[in-house]
Amino acid sequence: MAKAGLPPNNPPKNSGKAEGLVQGSGSNLNGLNTNGLSAMSNGNAANVNGRNGVEINGAHGLNTNGLDATDRASALRLENIPDDLMTKCDNCGALLVTKDWLRDLKVCARCNYHTRLPARERLALLTDDQSFEEWDASLLPRDPLQFPGYEAKRTAAQLKTHLKDSCLIGGARLDNRVLGIGASDFGFMGGSMGSVFGEKVTRLLEHALEERMPAVMVISTGGARMQEGLMSLMQMAKTSAAVARLQNAGLPYLVVLTDPSTAGVQASFASLGDVTIAEPGALIGFTGARVIEQNLKIKLPKGFQSAEFQMEHGQLDMIVPRAKLKETIAQLLSLLLD
Ligand SMILES: [Zn+2]
Repeated sequence: MAKAGLPPNNPPKNSGKAEGLVQGSGSNLNGLNTNGLSAMSNGNAANVNGRNGVEINGAHGLNTNGLDATDRASALRLENIPDDLMTKCDNCGALLVTKDWLRDLKVCARCNYHTRLPARERLALLTDDQSFEEWDASLLPRDPLQFPGYEAKRTAAQLKTHLKDSCLIGGARLDNRVLGIGASDFGFMGGSMGSVFGEKVTRLLEHALEERMPAVMVISTGGARMQEGLMSLMQMAKTSAAVARLQNAGLPYLVVLTDPSTAGVQASFASLGDVTIAEPGALIGFTGARVIEQNLKIKLPKGFQSAEFQMEHGQLDMIVPRAKLKETIAQLLSLLLD
């Protein structure tokens, strides 16, 4: 029987729509409303959803209804932007050319926001090329309290970050000087300090002491890891004691506070540096501002717990932009050791 009246299985490609312009882009735009668009754009929404979901003209959910031909053509040209070409600043929403943003070490050219860096990137940035050699890479966290959901969360973090836990330590060179250096990774369960993190910081400091070399710790953390309860709180005393042993031997210990540096870590080895440096705009403190306000029933000043506020109130020695961090640490070590 003839299938008269049924739509063809393969409709002709050129169906009167300007497909050459937009067909096959496989693109998408969050919330893009294509109602009423001409044939030129039907069935295809321009791709402006970059790696972080870019914002075009400051408006999510671009509505192209009623646009004239020039506007439409300009909106549709966005589809030609590769996904990784533009990056949206997490702080001010500015649309940045990814190449420039990477050249600026992931600092926003408009608002100076210092994007959080994974530990490996951070260590590569602060040491001589290829000189970092990881120590104690095999240390694995346990689940002493059998805390509900801890194991699953940890496994997910391990898969996401390719780290075994939230802290990396090792030996490296900086301007050809050997040093022990470590960094925490906020992407791994908020950079929280459990028993492995604490043990690694302690070993970093002990190894630096044995080898008579300086130690640097770069912080990015929300504090102690609640899933390890007392085991994580004990790390505060253990790491602080290790700092004291290094300092008593006359060896420098520098701390770099990045966004965020808070709670149990900030209340222990992160606030014991011979020199405490912070990146601009970093959140630094113990308890969150809202909790303090609720408990003390007071209004806290604007910018409370920012690096700039802490600098003004004597909690920091210097605020150093990311691009100057490596040379500043090298200069400080030279001043302290040579
Ligand atoms: Zn910005």
